[in-house]
Amino acid sequence: MISIIVPVLNEAENIPGLHQEIVSVMTIIDRPYEVLFIDDGSTDDTLAELRKIDGSDTGYLSFSRNFGKEAAIIAGLEKAAGDAVIIMDGDMQHPPSLISELIEQYEAGYDQVVAKRNKAKEPLSRRLPSKLFYQLMNFTSTVHLEDGEGDFRLISRKVVDAILMLSENNRFSKGIFEWVGFNKTVIEFNHIERESGNSTFNPLKLLDYAIDGISAFNHRPLRACFYLGLVVLLASVAYILYMFVNIAIHGVEVPGYFTIIASLLLLGSIQLFSLGIIGEYVGRIYIETKNRPKYIIRESSAYEAEQGGHHEKQYTR
Ligand code: UDP
Ligand code: MG
Repeated sequence: MISIIVPVLNEAENIPGLHQEIVSVMTIIDRPYEVLFIDDGSTDDTLAELRKIDGSDTGYLSFSRNFGKEAAIIAGLEKAAGDAVIIMDGDMQHPPSLISELIEQYEAGYDQVVAKRNKAKEPLSRRLPSKLFYQLMNFTSTVHLEDGEGDFRLISRKVVDAILMLSENNRFSKGIFEWVGFNKTVIEFNHIERESGNSTFNPLKLLDYAIDGISAFNHRPLRACFYLGLVVLLASVAYILYMFVNIAIHGVEVPGYFTIIASLLLLGSIQLFSLGIIGEYVGRIYIETKNRPKYIIRESSAYEAEQGGHHEKQYTR
């Protein structure tokens, strides 16, 4: 069985069409399937639409508030009962027509089949920051991320179980997919505009996302603080020695205003910057130690997968 999970936030207008397309694709390729929508605290008619399509092979979970797309994906993976799970967006940017290709590759033996977005048609305003993000990310991180490889993918049961084993609260799914490994193949598709509604991402959110991604996946920035400190220390020692010799030879001159201000500013900003990085990690430790549930369910559909039993019914840990 194939499970298709779709995180949705305020996608009321897109849901009926998307659901219909998924159903027709699955009917054509003739495989048992289930579709699970995860309503991530929508404030429009999303939940009403989901109640309408609730049926024998379609179900939904609805969060008590917005917990974020990552939490929605986890909820979907926990509930999914399929031998393979397809994750896709609810705004038609991930074409259901690709589902058959994903399944084809899965049946050819791949555990992760990634649908990679062809970026050529995206506006530059979106392409540039994301390019920057990937360069920064791959420079600092231990896992390699590829631009355009998002959440749209099929993962086998083995991969799902591996991902569910990671207990961390702060989810960075792009990195986690890479981190768990397994054999992976990539298929490409062209970027399409949203069917309706607005993307919830903006440049500031993207920066937040970048910081999340970097600090979730490695501690190299802490190492960078160490090296920065070391370099400044060596430079200071050299400068102090130079001044000492200078004073020994020429005597005390009029104290330099410039050098004092310059070193004050430089050291001050390096310290603040480093504190910020350390704070980022301390914050993460704080969040993780609370060990709160990743999401809270407000309502779930009557639907239950027939060959359930893969998952424990423990949605809120
Ligand atoms: N989404 C979600 N929770 C959020 C933000 C987004 O479940 O907090 C869903 C959204 O409904 C969509 C998918 O995640 O199905 C991708 O979101 P969006 O289209 O806003 O992102 P983009 O395609 O611009 O990266
Ligand atoms: Mg989108």
